[in-house]
Amino acid sequence: MAKTISYITGSDLLSLKERASVAIVDVRDDERSYEGHIAGSLHFASDSFQDRIPNLVQTVKDKGKDTLVFHCALSQVRGPKCARRFADYLAAGKDDAGIKSIMVLERGYNGWEASGKPVCRCSGTTCKGGC
Ligand SMILES: [Zn+2]
Repeated sequence: MAKTISYITGSDLLSLKERASVAIVDVRDDERSYEGHIAGSLHFASDSFQDRIPNLVQTVKDKGKDTLVFHCALSQVRGPKCARRFADYLAAGKDDAGIKSIMVLERGYNGWEASGKPVCRCSGTTCKGGC
């Protein structure tokens, strides 16, 4: 089953992310540790993304997510590439993990922060999203 990837604006994501079924997947690499991040986002660095796809699938199943929003710094290279790899992985398997929608955040984290949207600067490997 082929999955299509759509784009979402920061403003739309800001309201969408309040839904419990939405997971934000940050695929930046080292930048996440010294720049902020979107509260509650999962971190799956692009350099190890392919190997960790099964882990991401399990995570979204455990958390009951059906909508994934990928982003990197600008969402021009790493974000769309990882979203495509994830979609291809689901398409190749028998199990779609209950994912209904795969999206990429337009303009990435940099655009999100530049437009004044809330960022979290916790240093935990798993962001609890409450900061
Ligand atoms: Zn955080």
